[in-house]
Amino acid sequence: MGRIKIKDLLNATEFGQEVTVKGWVKTFRNNQFIAINDGSTINNIQAVVDFTTTDEALLKRITTGAAVSVTGELVESLGKGQRVEIKVRELEILGDSDPEKFPLQPKKHSLEFLREIAHLRFRTSTFNAVFKVRHALAFAVHKFFNDRGFVYMHTPIVTGSDAEGAGEMFRVTTLDLDNIPRNEDGSINFKEDFFGKSTNLTVSGQLEGELAAMAFGEIYTFGPTFRAENSNTTRHLAEFWMIEPEMAFYDLNDNMNLAEDLLKYLIRYALDNCSDELEFLKARLLEEEKQKPQNERSDLDLIAKLNFCLENSFERLTYTEAINILKNSKPNQKKQFKYLIENWGADLQSEHERYLVEKHFKKPVILTDYPAEIKAFYMRQNEVDAEGRKTVRAMDILFPGIGEIVGGSQREERLELLEQRMREMHIPVEEMSWFLDTRRFGSAPHAGFGLGFERLVLFVTGMTNIRDVIPFPRTPKNAEF
Ligand code: ATP
Ligand code: MN
Repeated sequence: MGRIKIKDLLNATEFGQEVTVKGWVKTFRNNQFIAINDGSTINNIQAVVDFTTTDEALLKRITTGAAVSVTGELVESLGKGQRVEIKVRELEILGDSDPEKFPLQPKKHSLEFLREIAHLRFRTSTFNAVFKVRHALAFAVHKFFNDRGFVYMHTPIVTGSDAEGAGEMFRVTTLDLDNIPRNEDGSINFKEDFFGKSTNLTVSGQLEGELAAMAFGEIYTFGPTFRAENSNTTRHLAEFWMIEPEMAFYDLNDNMNLAEDLLKYLIRYALDNCSDELEFLKARLLEEEKQKPQNERSDLDLIAKLNFCLENSFERLTYTEAINILKNSKPNQKKQFKYLIENWGADLQSEHERYLVEKHFKKPVILTDYPAEIKAFYMRQNEVDAEGRKTVRAMDILFPGIGEIVGGSQREERLELLEQRMREMHIPVEEMSWFLDTRRFGSAPHAGFGLGFERLVLFVTGMTNIRDVIPFPRTPKNAEF
């Protein structure tokens, strides 16, 4: 008799059959009721042992965290809370778990504590749910793009280009740090380094993605990216996963439509395929919000919030329109913003983004046409407007509780304008010759964006700290496990 997964057993209707399950003990009550979980579902199966006929020493080894194999008859449960249970005939301890030492007790642990034991937190219901949703979303990303004919492109993780300038990079080197080879002028001699040049971990696959888009038409990347930015926030990781589609013959509108479709598809996929997990996470969030004052609690529960997002089109407006709203907003007039909005050109801080999304529009927002000064060199330049303002065809998607979830743009496809902008921004034009070749040979309008995968998982799971939606978070001063 082979092992059956608990997920399948809980749906079984054939009572009386003999079954075997293997899993980990969550709780053992009254010397009788074992709740077992095997990770196949967030729900446990109850196995009932007859303590009058079971060896005392064996009963003692049924402790939280122990791995067990249980064989017995599947019966209809008389107890509350479950439909089926196993009447144990045979029980084997596969691996003991010393209850004095096992850090996970059958009680509520804080997320902070669980972060310190990230190697064990997968065993909790919360993290079972979070990482199941993460898995489903990752799968759905590939499904979405595959169904639309996009090519999944693996862009390099070690890169010799630092052109993006999107935040600080991690250096990759095999040089002996105690004996660094130097040039005559004292600078580091990277010719002696592994790649014969200075290299870094990638901050984005976009530039390479553009090369592929100019051949395949529509591509996407989905891989790890690294930023050595020293921002200790609940929304930044030093190592995070990013989805970066890049499409030839798309303008900014096509780009926004694709991004909105993608986000809605992914949310819908989670609702359709992770209902147990989302119900659990919804209850968890309600419980957590009880600790907060009434005015800080959400109006909508997690599932209602996800549905709301599907049912409404994202509000689209320009940066300039947003600045006017923010300038006249209450928190700006009453000087409640930490960074007051005074002039056009100001970079939007997360307090401003959240005001627009959570207070003003009360739904996801897409901001377009940002000042060129605060955006990357590769974004397509708009005509200078009547007031002499220079903007680019950028678009950022802002989500409630998250802030920026997507950053993208139509790309500058005109060689002269791109080179000119690069010089203005001190980007080494010669070193980037390979990138500029796309503009030299068969240049075409194209666009793309980057979706931060963890920010999406945060939104869908209702978790509040990005460290809780990636298995082993890397943040400043922390690279455990
Ligand atoms: P932010 O202003 O929030 O730092 P950014 O403008 O640096 O974001 P982009 O360079 O446009 O972000 O990156 C694209 C997407 O990647 C962002 O919209 C966000 O979802 C995600 N992202 C960026 N930096 C991080 C990070 N440090 N940790 C997790 N996700 C990130
Ligand atoms: Mn950033």
